[in-house]
Amino acid sequence: MGARFSELAERLGADQIATDSAIPPRYRLDAFRAHRGSRLPEGGVDPAAVVWPRSTEDVSIVVRFAAAAGLSIVPWGGGTGLMGGARPSADSIVLDMRRMRRVLSIDRASNRATAEAGIVLEALDRRLRKRGLTLGHDPWSRPRATLGGAIGTNGIGYAGYLRGTMGDQILGFEVVLADGTVVRTRPAVRSTTGLDLKRLFIGTEGTLGIVTSATLRVFPIPEREEIHAFAIRDFPRGLASLVRIYDDGLTPAVMDFEETFPGPSLPWRSEGGPPILYLGFAGSREVVAASWRVARRRLRAAAAQSFPDREAREYWRTRHDIIYAHDEVAPGVTRADVRLKEFIFDYVHVALPTSKILAYRRSGLAILRRHGVRPIGFGVWTQPELVSLEVLRSVGQDRTAARAAVATAVDEIIRRALALGGTMEYVHGVGVKLAHLMTDELGTGLEVARRVKAALDSAGTLNPGKLGL
Ligand SMILES: Cc1cc2nc3c(=O)[nH]c(=O)nc-3n(C[C@H](O)[C@H](O)[C@H](O)COP(=O)(O)OP(=O)(O)OC[C@H]3O[C@@H](n4cnc5c(N)ncnc54)[C@H](O)[C@@H]3O)c2cc1C
Repeated sequence: MGARFSELAERLGADQIATDSAIPPRYRLDAFRAHRGSRLPEGGVDPAAVVWPRSTEDVSIVVRFAAAAGLSIVPWGGGTGLMGGARPSADSIVLDMRRMRRVLSIDRASNRATAEAGIVLEALDRRLRKRGLTLGHDPWSRPRATLGGAIGTNGIGYAGYLRGTMGDQILGFEVVLADGTVVRTRPAVRSTTGLDLKRLFIGTEGTLGIVTSATLRVFPIPEREEIHAFAIRDFPRGLASLVRIYDDGLTPAVMDFEETFPGPSLPWRSEGGPPILYLGFAGSREVVAASWRVARRRLRAAAAQSFPDREAREYWRTRHDIIYAHDEVAPGVTRADVRLKEFIFDYVHVALPTSKILAYRRSGLAILRRHGVRPIGFGVWTQPELVSLEVLRSVGQDRTAARAAVATAVDEIIRRALALGGTMEYVHGVGVKLAHLMTDELGTGLEVARRVKAALDSAGTLNPGKLGL
């Protein structure tokens, strides 16, 4: 234990802190890794220390210690963030929240629960299911991501249209500020008492405060969930029928519509063929049956062809499998690092007015062609406005050049989305990956965000550099 951390180790307990060579290499990088497009260096650095707090008081102690020592704090949940929001610097303390994982209360009658921020989402959902409830927030990364990380990124899951984002589910929480002060907001479904303080800490990637526990709206397990898969003749027709389905007032519990492009494939994907739609409804039997009656009528207009039921069952059963690619296969090396060694793989997730989606698709594909980057999938998820484009390029002779080429193409595609009236990212946040685009995104609003940061954290202790702050 380095001498400068011995006082902290004494206060917390030696098993709650690691320094120097005892720091596990996995803390160098979250899930924003070398196979993504970027001009930033591809390897990470060790933080000065990793701390595993057990209580809110521990978090306050560490924050105060860091501020006094001129170190920064990087909150860490499951480390599954895709934008480098949990990436440490050499003078930071990583605060791994996963020992703070208690469920503090479940109120079955009010559909609400309170849990510590380090609980893994799947563990929380399992606890809720024992009481007839479900979490609602169901990202691909549910088996590894934590409540605090989902709040920090304001993530969205498969049921995002029906249940909202993680932030939408939050009723109130407990947060530790940069000076160690603990703030508790009143858990309420609605309040007209001025500034909604909790919004300051939703989606702000730990730059304004560290969430230690949250009270959230959860949901009764639906009586029925019914998902079907369809092949759609072409993307524009499928999109048009989806827009009608939402305009009809239906609230899909699952919607995933993607076209894939022919070409060399990634090991886990099939490419080409007609666009595929997975659509599902949840609720009482009557609601689900009525929803399907309306939706099927709309889908007929797009000449949708039903797949056998096992296609949708398999999709649903395997929906979280991809996150295991983020598990370590050797110290500091994930399965994805190994699988994607020969590729630069990246994606953009923008929100756009539906009227602009086809124009965006055309210009996105043209931009990729110009930069020698291949599109592998274009789709909408949870609702028609939420658009993703996945891209791939072989590493070839020069890895740095390939990463930079993909980064340049991605930046251009994002700027196109902004020009069309969209926002640059709807799900994964900004982290360090998109920090350089925050002026394009916020304009003069970035200065407002910086003033808020300065008011709450003038020394820049909390997660500096993320979100362009
Ligand atoms: C294969 C894969 C699939 C994914 N699918 C989805 C998806 O479907 N939907 C989705 O939303 N995301 C998805 N993600 C991204 C990621 O899982 C989410 O961003 C998730 O919410 C991050 O949770 P985490 O606990 O791993 O947070 P981390 O990655 O550890 O942290 C994320 C950010 O939150 C901050 N943070 C962490 N804990 C706290 C806290 N207690 N207080 C304040 N700030 C905190 C961190 O500093 C960081 O800035 C996916 C990622 C992968 C690798």
